[in-house]
Amino acid sequence: MLEWQQGIVVDILDETPRTKRYFIQLPRSNRFDFKPGQFVTLDLPIHEKKNKRWRSYSIASAPDGSNIIELVIELVSGGLGTTYLWENVHIGDELTLRGPAGVFVLHEPVTHDCFMICTGTGIAPFRSMIQHLTKEAFTTNEIYLIVGARSKEELLYFNEMTDLQTKMPNFHYIPTLSREEWKGRTGYVHPIYKEYTKDKPDAEFFLCGWKEMVDEAKQHLLEMGYDKKQIHLELYG
Ligand SMILES: Cc1cc2nc3c(=O)[nH]c(=O)nc-3n(C[C@H](O)[C@H](O)[C@H](O)COP(=O)(O)OP(=O)(O)OC[C@H]3O[C@@H](n4cnc5c(N)ncnc54)[C@H](O)[C@@H]3O)c2cc1C
Repeated sequence: MLEWQQGIVVDILDETPRTKRYFIQLPRSNRFDFKPGQFVTLDLPIHEKKNKRWRSYSIASAPDGSNIIELVIELVSGGLGTTYLWENVHIGDELTLRGPAGVFVLHEPVTHDCFMICTGTGIAPFRSMIQHLTKEAFTTNEIYLIVGARSKEELLYFNEMTDLQTKMPNFHYIPTLSREEWKGRTGYVHPIYKEYTKDKPDAEFFLCGWKEMVDEAKQHLLEMGYDKKQIHLELYG
C-alpha cells in the first residue's frame, strides 16, 4: 500500500477558464520517480468517509529528476473535489497525496505507431509521455495525439503541442473541435483515428478521459479488427 505524504502547492496557473495547472512539490525526497502515464490520488477534506475524499489525477509532467509534479484539473460543476481545490487551495498550501500508481504507461522501447486519443484533461498522461519521448526515449515510430474539445479555448497545452509538432517530425498533433469552426479539424475524435490508422495493423492505442468517449473509441477499434491487447484505457469516471 502506498503511503500518504504531504505535498506543497508551489504554483497554480490558469490554463483555460475552467482548467488550472497545479505544481506540487513532494519534499519527502529530492526526486519523485514515476512512469509517464501514472497518476496520484489526493485526499481532500470533503467528506467524513476516507474513500469518498479521494480524487485521482494523472501526472501531466514528465519525470525530470525533481520532486515537483504538475496536475491539470478541470472544474466540474457541482463537483466536490474540484470546487474545494478552486475555492480553498492556494500557492503555499499543503495537499495530502499518494502515488504514483497505475499501469497506463508507455511500453518502452516504443516499437509500434501509437495513437493517443483523449478529450479534455485526458491529455494529461499523454503530455507526460510525449515530453518523456522528446527528452529520454526517442522513437522513430509515429505518435498521433488526437484531442477532442468543444472550442479552441478549451484545448489544453495547444501552443506547446503545436510547437512540438514542428520539432518532432514523427509527432502528429490533431486537435478537433465539436462546437466551433476554425482552421483545423472539426467534429469528434472517432473519424480521425479511423482515417490515420489505414494500413497500421500493429498500432497501439491509448485512450484516456470520461467513459463515453473511451468506451465508444474502444468499441470502434475492436470492430476495426484491433485486438484488445493493443488498446490501453485510463477511465476518469
Ligand atoms: C486515474 C484517474 C486519473 C484522473 N485524472 C484526471 C486529470 O488529470 N484531470 C482531471 O481534471 N480529472 C482527472 N480525473 C477525474 C478526477 O479524479 C475527478 O473525478 C474529477 O476531478 C471530478 O471530481 P469532483 O470531486 O469535482 O467531482 P465529483 O463530486 O466526484 O463528481 C461529479 C460527478 O460528475 C461526473 N463528471 C465529472 N466530470 C465529468 C466530465 N467531464 N464528463 C462526464 N462526467 C463527469 C462524475 O463522474 C460525478 O458523477 C481522473 C480520474 C481517474 C480515475
